[in-house]
Amino acid sequence: MKNWPRSLLTWYYAQRRSMPWRDNPTPYAVWISEIMLQQTRVSTVIPYFERFMTQFPTVHDLAESDLQSVLKCWEGLGYYSRARNLHRCAKQIVAEFGGEVPGTYEALLTLPGIGPYCGAAIASIAFGEAVPAIDGNVLRAASRFFGLYTDITRPIARTDLFQRLLPASQSSKDPSAFTQGMIELGATVCLPKNPLCATCPLQKGCVALKTDTVSVLPVKKKKSPVPHYEVGIGIVWNEHQKILLAQRRETQMLGGLWEFPGGKQLGEETLEETVMRKIHTSTGVRVSVGQKLQTVEHAFTHFTIRVHAFLCQRDKGAARALGYSQVKWVAPDIISTYPLPAVDKKIWDRLSL
Ligand code: SF4
Repeated sequence: MKNWPRSLLTWYYAQRRSMPWRDNPTPYAVWISEIMLQQTRVSTVIPYFERFMTQFPTVHDLAESDLQSVLKCWEGLGYYSRARNLHRCAKQIVAEFGGEVPGTYEALLTLPGIGPYCGAAIASIAFGEAVPAIDGNVLRAASRFFGLYTDITRPIARTDLFQRLLPASQSSKDPSAFTQGMIELGATVCLPKNPLCATCPLQKGCVALKTDTVSVLPVKKKKSPVPHYEVGIGIVWNEHQKILLAQRRETQMLGGLWEFPGGKQLGEETLEETVMRKIHTSTGVRVSVGQKLQTVEHAFTHFTIRVHAFLCQRDKGAARALGYSQVKWVAPDIISTYPLPAVDKKIWDRLSL
C-alpha cells in the first residue's frame, strides 16, 4: 500500500475532531496543548487549555507571570513538572528567541520540557516540518500497521518506527495533518482493545490485520505491580486560628505545590505517630493529634497512596522549613488560593463544604 499517507490524510480531513488548539493552531497554542495532552485525555485538557490561554494568552504573559499562578491554573491536571517546565521554557523563549516559539525540531529540543515527541508534534503541526511525532497511540497503531514485534517500552521500538514514519511524513503533502492523522487514528480507530479495523483507512496495508495478529500487537512488557503507601497528614491549627501549609521543594514530585504536612507511615508506628514525627521533622512544630477527619486514596503512575488526614493542634515549636522550601500559617479562607496537590485539595474541599 504505497499511498497510505494519502489515505490517512483523506481520512483525517474528513474525520478530524474539533479542538480549540486545532481550530486556531498558533505555535503557542500547539505547544501548550501538547504539553497538557501528555498522559491526559482530550476531554480533561480542553477546559484547562481554555482557562490557561485566557490567563496567559501569549508567551510573554506566561514568562512574566509568577510560578504560583501557573501552578494554580494547572491544579488538578497532574504531572506538575510540566507546568514548571512550561514556565521556565517561556522565559527561555523570550530570552533566546524574542518571544517566538522556535520553528524547527532541532531548536525545540533545546527547550526545557520538550522531548522528541513534543518537539516533533510542535514542529510538524505548527510549522509543517516533516518529522513524525510518536506518542503511545502512534506506537500502537504503527506497530500493528508495520507488523513490528519489538517491545514498545524499549527506546529501540520508537527509533525504528521513527525511521519508518519519516519517509511517509516527508512524502505527504501536509506533514501537519500527517502527524495529527496518526495520533487521531491511534486515539479513535486503532484502539488498544477491539480496534475498528473495518473503518480504518490503513486496513489494506496493515500487516497485523493481514496476518491476524491485531490482538497480539503491539508487544508490551507487563508492568510490575506498583507499591502502596499509607500516609498520615495533619490539619494543624495554631492559637491564632491559622492552619499550617508547607510548600514542596522544586526538586520533589509535585514541587512548588502547597500541602498539609505529613508523610509515609513507617514500620509499626500508628498513623498518629507518623503525623507527629513527620510534622516535627519537616516543620519543627510539635503537635497533638486529634480525631481522624477523612481518608483519601490516590493513584500516581508509579505508586498508590492512602492519605489519612487528622485534626491537630500546635503544642510548641516555631514553624521552620526543614523538609520543605517554605512553611506558613495561613488563614482558612485563603487556603484555596494556594496551588494544592489533588489529594490535599480534595480533603480541603470536603472540609470546607
Ligand atoms: S487495520 Fe486495524 S490494526 Fe491495522 S492500523 Fe487499522 S485499526 Fe489498527
